[in-house]
Amino acid sequence: MIRLQNISKTYQTDKVETLALKDINLHVKKGEFLSIMGPSGCGKSTLLNLIGLLDQPGTGAISVDGKEVKSYRDKDVAQLRNRTFGFIFQSFHLINDLHVIDNVELPLLYRSVPAAERRRLAKEALEKVGLGARMEHYPNQLSGGQQQRVAIARAMVGKPQVLLADEPTGNLDSQMGAEVMDHLVKLNQEGTTVVMVTHDEREAKRGSQIIRVFDGQLVA
Ligand code: ADP
Ligand code: ADP
Repeated sequence: MIRLQNISKTYQTDKVETLALKDINLHVKKGEFLSIMGPSGCGKSTLLNLIGLLDQPGTGAISVDGKEVKSYRDKDVAQLRNRTFGFIFQSFHLINDLHVIDNVELPLLYRSVPAAERRRLAKEALEKVGLGARMEHYPNQLSGGQQQRVAIARAMVGKPQVLLADEPTGNLDSQMGAEVMDHLVKLNQEGTTVVMVTHDEREAKRGSQIIRVFDGQLVA
């Protein structure tokens, strides 16, 4: 489904060059749950950002469903990204001035979905993560685990094929982390492809495959 071929990525800050990824080859297959592990600074977030078309590689090619991303125009890349991926992050990235339901509706607003339909889909997504009764709360009135479940609802409301998660339990205690993991596993069982960065070996093992990154390279 998503293929990375001979990918390298260098960051340039002032006069310092950092080689973040080196000659990466990776195939994310439809329906799998891929866990990405490796020490801090090894390139995991960079890799996830490239898979999710949030960033461009220095060299190499990325293709989605057999078509090279480089052949799309910028605005078509944005559309491809929004259609294909949902994102969740360690720090939730919710908007605290907006009710939970309005946070979840946001991706649909960008896609010009009519208001009544937005509300219906957001409600459905929140009910799926067990937060149907919290729609009119503000994010900071919820626990960390509940906030991450709101973020999952927001990521999934547009029914993307792939959910990308960058250390989704990194800010949660073990019980809340386990609840979030249960939701990711359930979404995967229902057909969503999941790619997750984690530091936790036990969490990684709940996926179908583990890849290990060390110093910008895939080592296993
Ligand atoms: P990880 O997610 O495994 O901690 P990252 O992908 O965030 O690793 O970073 C990989 C390497 O690239 C690190 O050396 C990091 O300092 C560097 N890096 C990441 N993002 C940037 C950036 N925007 N500018 C400069 N260097 C960066
Ligand atoms: P994590 O290790 O949890 O993935 P980091 O603290 O390494 O997170 O990075 C958080 C974000 O900051 C990354 O998405 C990356 O783009 C950016 N970043 C990381 N390292 C650097 C750096 N050396 N210079 C500039 N930006 C960086």
